[in-house]
Amino acid sequence: MQLSVVVPCYNEENGLDALRRRIVAACQTCAADDYEIVLVNDGSSDRTWDVMARFSAQDPRVVAVNLSRNHGHQLALSAGLSLARGDRVFIIDADLQDPPELLGEMMARMDAGADVVYGQRIERQGETRFKKLSAYLFYRVLDRLVDVSIPTDTGDFRLMSRRALDVLNAMPEHHRFIRGMVSWLGFRQEAVPYARAPRFADSSKYPLAKMIRFALDAITGFSIRPLRLASYLGFAVSLIALVMMLYALISYLLGNTVSGWTSMTLIILAVASVQFMLMGVIGEYLGRLYMESKRRPLYIIDEIRTSPSASRSQSI
Ligand code: UDP
Ligand code: MG
Repeated sequence: MQLSVVVPCYNEENGLDALRRRIVAACQTCAADDYEIVLVNDGSSDRTWDVMARFSAQDPRVVAVNLSRNHGHQLALSAGLSLARGDRVFIIDADLQDPPELLGEMMARMDAGADVVYGQRIERQGETRFKKLSAYLFYRVLDRLVDVSIPTDTGDFRLMSRRALDVLNAMPEHHRFIRGMVSWLGFRQEAVPYARAPRFADSSKYPLAKMIRFALDAITGFSIRPLRLASYLGFAVSLIALVMMLYALISYLLGNTVSGWTSMTLIILAVASVQFMLMGVIGEYLGRLYMESKRRPLYIIDEIRTSPSASRSQSI
């Protein structure tokens, strides 16, 4: 199969008809009849599932997937991605903020050798000033904090090759920030700029609480810098304690202290500085343990070349 389209849907009953029409049109142009549309219902409380089930009854190319409850955007998307069978997979939101018509251009870029072609918003229409500002700040702060470079102003709207998708599917981490994980993969990744439209129906399914959780997943998923900050702080505080110990000793030698003050101060500072230093050490180990626990692949091979006569080429 040439192409899979994966769409996570949460309470999107009003937009699904238009979504399907536009996706089918885009797929017909780019993949003739050789495609599937994987719709994932993320525990919607409206009639989203009924609409999807109807689609799948009418059209053999529609795969409707019902999750047991609301798992959140990134997990719903992960479910769809692991079920996708196409050689390429096109990820798009259900709200038509991202135009399915961009598929043609993305396919062409992939034909030219890219493994990931992502949409990059140059404009966001019909979104609140708060949403725009928070998104703007989020992508800039993220860029400062994390070690992989995650392109700014991109969502999960993208086309991925099968080999990139296979690596992504093999990353077992629970707190998933998919656009970051895809950047982390490497391979050739290219941007296609576009203007983001307002939502076709209803309002955003990302209330503030979900947005904050998402931002925390993004930052903690790709950086142990906040934890490292704690360990720097620990060392800094213990240094300050050391200076204060010196001060206490000098004051004692100069004779301008009441009796008992110096020993008390020294004990408190010594205990505190040892504690802070140990916390820093623990922080470093914890950070490593945390990153290990993600069990990501150690490396991802793009390609291997050997001369045709070399014997190892057979064994690969
Ligand atoms: N979504 C989901 N589960 C959720 C929240 C959202 O599957 O718990 C889907 C939603 O239906 C949409 C996509 O994720 O297809 C992006 O959500 P939304 O458009 O509300 O986010 P925004 O564009 O406002 O960031
Ligand atoms: Mg949206």
